[in-house]
This record gives sequence, structure tokens and C-alpha cells, in this order.
Amino acid sequence: MKKTILTGLRPTGNLHLGHLFGAGHNYIKLQNDYDFYLEIADVQALTDNFNNPDKIRKNVIEITIDLLSIGLDPTKVNFFIQSKIPEISELTVYYSNLVTVARLERNPTVKAEISQKKELFGNDGESITYGFLGYPVSQAADITAFNGEVVPVGEDQLPLLEQCREIVRKFNFIYGETLKEPQAILSETKRVKGLDGNDKMGKSLGNAIFLNDDDETIKKKIMGAITDPAKIKKDDKANPDICMVYYYHNLINKKENTKNICNECKKGARGCVQCKKELIEAINTFLTPIREKRKYYENNPEIVKKILDTGTKKAKEKAEEQMKKIKSAMKINY
Ligand code: ATP
Ligand code: MG
Repeated sequence: MKKTILTGLRPTGNLHLGHLFGAGHNYIKLQNDYDFYLEIADVQALTDNFNNPDKIRKNVIEITIDLLSIGLDPTKVNFFIQSKIPEISELTVYYSNLVTVARLERNPTVKAEISQKKELFGNDGESITYGFLGYPVSQAADITAFNGEVVPVGEDQLPLLEQCREIVRKFNFIYGETLKEPQAILSETKRVKGLDGNDKMGKSLGNAIFLNDDDETIKKKIMGAITDPAKIKKDDKANPDICMVYYYHNLINKKENTKNICNECKKGARGCVQCKKELIEAINTFLTPIREKRKYYENNPEIVKKILDTGTKKAKEKAEEQMKKIKSAMKINY
């Protein structure tokens, strides 16, 4: 029997390099060996976008196209839409008894996200909604509704996984051994930095290189990327470790090129403009096959819809089965 993978993405925007290197490459690698459920987490996306339903609706399709374009095979991966599986919302209600408000407020990921969303939640998070504070509980429901054992994610998700494991342990302790404790799997690149030097490239942070950015957009973004501020002239020696252009060369360019770039930069034998131009070319080369696949799915929206319908149907069956076990353990199987 294959083990089950459950992982998800929020339809808040297109995929970026952070998704691809932080999680997507692992999805591609693991899709052959697992019973794989990939959630388009529209309910979770609404927790901080409740006032913008059009954005979420549009991005459910956009992000599905992105995921297909990077090489996920819909015959191996069940793509499903979270809101079409009401069992997840039901489980969220049951699990909300198993976690304290104080624990959610201490969750490092939730804390970091609240401070990034001042416009929505106020300067000190004083206007935080019940729904947003509780999204880690809903994420525990996502995973356990499928008895997910393996969860490929980026590093920012680890505190949420830990929260899920705590809920699982508490559930099993009170209601009897029912749920599996999921394990996170991290990629080689655990966390990709943003164009602004921020610790995390994020869809909602305005610092991302998106997989569907066109040539002109890539050029603009890289030309404006942060380099070593001490380097003014072409032949000034610089520190590549504090340069975002070098950082992305390292991510995307061939190893032998990167080594050379690093040495030349340190010696003052390389100008930033040349370095940026080379990076733009490397990114465009890297994105070309992804862009081509995207075009195919954009021109065939009925195929994308069918993939979502089929995956959601399979996910619903799996969640219904798991729900029976959970309700029986909780003695609410009337
Ligand atoms: P949002 O800002 O709306 O939360 P996001 O960019 O954080 O969007 P998610 O949909 O929340 O994207 O995350 C999907 C997956 O991609 C998660 O597993 C997450 O850990 C991973 N991921 C997102 N950004 C990065 C990054 N910069 N580096 C590594 N992994 C990332
Ligand atoms: Mg996120």
C-alpha cells in the first residue's frame, strides 16, 4: 500500500520560484511513489482575503495551471478544491476544542503573518479574526481528513505541521488511536528569499519572481534587485553573499557558472549590470519549458476543469471514509 501525501497551496496568486524550489521539486519527485492529494486551499486563502473573493476564485485555476506546467502529472496527483470537501470544515470544528487560543497566538508562522498584514489585522494584530487565528486548526483538518502521512512543504510551514501533530496526539489520547502523525519533508532549498532580501519570497509579499512573469517583467525585477551597496563602480570588489542577484544565480544557474561569478565578483572583475543581464537570461531559459506548458493549459481550460473535478471526486471519497472513522472514535456516529 502506498503512503498518503497531503499538501496544499493557497490560491492567492501564481506560483513563484519559492514554491518551485521550496516545495514543487519535491512534489514532482514524490508523485510516483505516493497516493498524492494536492489541495488548492481556497478556504484558507479566504481567511485573509475574505474581502476579495474574485481574487481567490481566479487563482484556483491559475495555480492549478502553474502546478501542471511545472510537471505534475494529473494521473498521479489528485488536485482538489478545499471548499468542495466539507468534511474538512466539519473536522476543523471538532479539532478547535483540542487547541488553546494562547497556543495559536504563540505559533511563530501565525505571528509572522499577522505582523505582515497590518492593513487587515491592525498594528499589533488587535483586529485579528477568529478565522485567521484558527487556520492552523483547519490545516490539521486538511492533513488528517486524508490520514496524510507525508507533507512536503517549505520551511515556513514547520510550526503549522507541529501544531497539527499536537492535535493528532491529543485526539488519539482522548478518543483512541485513530489518526496518523504526519511528517514534514523539506526540499534541498528549504526557504527561498524575496527580491527585497526578505527571508521569504511570498505571493502576498510583493517580492516574488513568478513562473508566469514575461521577459519584460523579469528584466524589470532583476534590474531593480538589491546588490552589495558598497559596490559603486564596475571594478569595485564586492560581497556576493549580500547580493540578491548572486543569490538567484546560485538558485538557478549552473554550478560551474556560479562559482565563476562568485570569484569575479569578489575580485572586482564583474559589473552588476552584466551580472544582472546574465541572470535574466538564465531565468528566461529556465522558465521557457514551463511557459510553453502553461500556454497549452491556458488554451485548453476544459482540461484543467476536468482535472480538478476528477481529483476532487477522489478526494471527497477518501475524506468521507476517514470521517466515518473519526466520528466513530468521537462517539458521534449516530
Ligand atoms: P501567501 O503569501 O498567500 O501565504 P505563499 O507564497 O506563502 O503565499 P503558500 O500557498 O502559502 O504560498 O505556500 C505553498 C507552499 O510553498 C508551502 O509548502 C510553502 O512552505 C511553500 N513556500 C512558499 N513560499 C516559499 C519560499 N519562499 N521558500 C520555500 N518554500 C515556500
Ligand atoms: Mg503562505
